[in-house]
Amino acid sequence: QADLAMYKAKESGRNRLHFFDPTLQTQVLHKAQLEHELRHALQTNECVLFYQPQVDAQGRILGAEALIRWLHPQRGLVMPAEFIPIAEASGLILDLGHWVLEAACRQLQVWQTHPVARDWVLAINISAHQFRQNDFVESLIALTQKYAIPAERLKLELTESVLIDDIQFAIERMHYLKAAGFGFALDDFGTGYSSLAYIKQLPLDQIKIDRCFIDGLPLDSNDAAITRIIIRLAQEFNLQVIAEGVETQAQRDFLLEAACVAFQGYWFGRPMPADEFLSHALAQEGV
Ligand code: C2E
Ligand code: MG
Ligand code: MG
Ligand code: MG
Repeated sequence: QADLAMYKAKESGRNRLHFFDPTLQTQVLHKAQLEHELRHALQTNECVLFYQPQVDAQGRILGAEALIRWLHPQRGLVMPAEFIPIAEASGLILDLGHWVLEAACRQLQVWQTHPVARDWVLAINISAHQFRQNDFVESLIALTQKYAIPAERLKLELTESVLIDDIQFAIERMHYLKAAGFGFALDDFGTGYSSLAYIKQLPLDQIKIDRCFIDGLPLDSNDAAITRIIIRLAQEFNLQVIAEGVETQAQRDFLLEAACVAFQGYWFGRPMPADEFLSHALAQEGV
């Protein structure tokens, strides 16, 4: 059983560890090995969700984004960048996605019993393949019923890649889920291509300004301009806007000044296990 404590070093490390070997042959073997191990991991609960706070302009917690981690018994904490692409290429992403949804609903059920946590919204990353799966809608609704979670507690994070393949299908599916109460965020906004054409057709609740634009704030004038434009765009379309990857006070101050309404990033809190997230929130309440 992997030690949860070992996550700290890696979660907080700027340079994430990579265990990829440079030669192509070992990379291929490595991928096959990881795929095999990941399949196993989903059955043996080596995967865990971490929760990163999303806060409003006053710093109050609105909820969290659920981010998957793999606590590998030998390799330690494995980050999603290292295994989500493998899961996507192998089709394992469907099982993984379902595992994430179930873990998220189970966590929301627990949070429903805490006064401080009962209104939190949990954002879940949904991969393109998962979103297009035949029984995605049914299984999502079945999970909320199983755990007695209002659909309003779940916010589905989609990227533009989910939408572009078959935009009409995506729009219809989103409208259906929206009518059932689920929320939607457009993740990594600004990094995909030409979303402006259809943004008004999508029943979105939120757009997330990608971290790459937040990085250069406040000094990089391009990043500053793009950030202001995205915030303005959100206002015009009546969408909530959240900045991702806010790491410094100077970035936070710029965003507040630019009328950004929600924030996520290391400055406010790193992704953390559920129990730690709750203590973090309780400590904040106390202040
Ligand atoms: P994302 O959805 O854009 O998630 C935000 C990423 O930014 C997370 O990386 C988070 O830990 C990181 N981050 C948050 N605040 C900061 C900050 O202030 N500075 C910096 N440098 N980074 C910050 P993480 O957890 O490694 O996840 C990477 C990506 O993997 C996610 O990007 C998402 O696309 C994918 N992913 C994570 N969990 C899941 C999941 O359960 N299902 C699916 N399909 N994809 C997931
Ligand atoms: Mg996300
Ligand atoms: Mg993102
Ligand atoms: Mg930049």
